[in-house]
Amino acid sequence: MKILVASFQCESNTRALLHPGKSDFEYFAGEDIYKKLVVKDIFTENGFAVIPSIYANALPSATVEQEVYDFYKTQILDTVRANPDAAGIYLYVHGSMEVEGIGSGELQLVKEIRQIVSRDCLIALTMDLHANITEELGQYVDIVCGYKTAPHTDQEESQRRAAGALAYCLKNRIKPYTFVQKIPMLVKGDTMLTQYEPLRSLEAETVQLEQQADIFGANLFFGHCWIDAPNTSASAVVSAASPAAAKQWAQTLANKLWSTRKEYQFRIEAEQPEECVRRALAGKEKRIFITDSGDNTTAGAEGTTQELLKLFLQADPEKKTCVAGITAYETVNSLWEQPDGAAVTVPGLERKGVIKTHGEILGWAKEIIGRCLTVSFGNVDAIFTEKRSGFIEKGNFDKANVDLLDYEIVVVKLGYLFEELKPYADRELFALTDGASCVELSRLNLKNIVRPMYPLEDFAWRAE
Ligand SMILES: [Zn+2]
Repeated sequence: MKILVASFQCESNTRALLHPGKSDFEYFAGEDIYKKLVVKDIFTENGFAVIPSIYANALPSATVEQEVYDFYKTQILDTVRANPDAAGIYLYVHGSMEVEGIGSGELQLVKEIRQIVSRDCLIALTMDLHANITEELGQYVDIVCGYKTAPHTDQEESQRRAAGALAYCLKNRIKPYTFVQKIPMLVKGDTMLTQYEPLRSLEAETVQLEQQADIFGANLFFGHCWIDAPNTSASAVVSAASPAAAKQWAQTLANKLWSTRKEYQFRIEAEQPEECVRRALAGKEKRIFITDSGDNTTAGAEGTTQELLKLFLQADPEKKTCVAGITAYETVNSLWEQPDGAAVTVPGLERKGVIKTHGEILGWAKEIIGRCLTVSFGNVDAIFTEKRSGFIEKGNFDKANVDLLDYEIVVVKLGYLFEELKPYADRELFALTDGASCVELSRLNLKNIVRPMYPLEDFAWRAE
C-alpha cells in the first residue's frame, strides 16, 4: 500500500503587507523532503511504500497570493494524480494559511485532493496549535493531530502521532471520523501557554484521550487572531473510530477550554510602550530587554515601526541602549557608502546620528540575507536592516558588528524573547505596541470574524 507525503505551510497575518513570494518558501521535492519531515520511517516500518511530494514552508507573512498558492498546491495535486492507488495521504500544514480570494488554504487543498481520491483513501494532517480550523475540514480529512505545546516544542512528535495513526488505521482497515467543534473564543496572542495551568492539564487530557484505542487524534486549537476571517477562533478537533465518539469528545474538550477562557493573562511584564521605556530606564538590572510585540517580525510584521526608538531618543538615556532590527531599506541603501563615523540623517527621525558600524543580517537558516547599518544617537544605537529580519540570538548582533554585552537596554522586534536571548536578559518587558502583530484584540478591528467572540463579548455558550 502506498502513502503520499507532502507539506505546505505558511502562517498568514492579514494585517501584514508583505505577501510571501515563491522564493520565500523553503522548498524541497522528492526524497529531500525528509530533511524536514520525520514520518518516512513510521510508514516504511509498517510496510507501506512512501511517495514524497513537496515540502514548502514560508515564515509568517501577509496573505498568500493565488498564483503562489497554486504553484505549490499544483505540485501536491500532481503527486496525488500520479498515484491514484494511494491508500493514504499525509500532509503537514499550518492551519492558518489565508489565500487571497480563497480563504483557508488548507481547506482548499484537501477539498481538491478529495476530488481526485476516493473516500477510501485516508488523509491525515499534522497542524499547528494556532490553526484556525474550518468547520468543514472534518468532511474531507480523517485524522488530525495538532501540536500540544505553546511555545511549540513538539513539532516532530506531532508528525509522528499523525503518521502513526494513519498507518494504524490503514493496517486495521479503520475509517476514522473527524469532528470539528468551533469555540467562540480568541485569546490574545502569547497568553495561552501550555506549561502553565489550566492548559497543562487540558493538554494532558488530550494525551490521555489518545491512549484510547478508538481515538486517533484529540486536539485543542487556539486559533490565530491576526487573520480577519470567519474561521478565526479556537476549536476542538477529535478523530475517532465512530462519528458519535468524535463529536462527543470534541464537544467535551471545547466546553472545558471555554470554561477556562478568563484565565489567560500575560505572565510577564506587559505594558504600554511609554511605561516599558520608563521601567527600563529606572530598572536596576544589568540588562533589560524590551520586545516590540506589535511589530514582531517572527509573527509576520514588517519590523518598520520606529515607535520605541523615538521614545528612547526623546528620553536621551544615560544607559547604553540598542534598538535592533528596524527594517529600513531606504536608510541602509542611501547611507551605505558613508563611512563609519559619518554624521547622517535617518528618514523619519529629526535627530542626527553617526554611523557606528556596517554589518550583515542573518536569515532564519543563519545564511546572510542582506546588509545593516548601526547608527548612534548619543547612547542609543539603532540597527537598520535592508530586509525584514529577526534579532533572535546574539549571533544577529555579532553579524551587525555590535556587541550585545555593551548594552543595558535592548529592544527587539519579537513577542516573547527567544530562548537564545534569555541568558542575556536580566529582565524582560513586553511592550504592547501597535502594528501587524498587535496583541490587543480590541485594537485589531476584526470585521470578518464570527460574533459574539470572547473576549470582545462575554456570553453564555455551550457545545452541544
Ligand atoms: Zn503556532
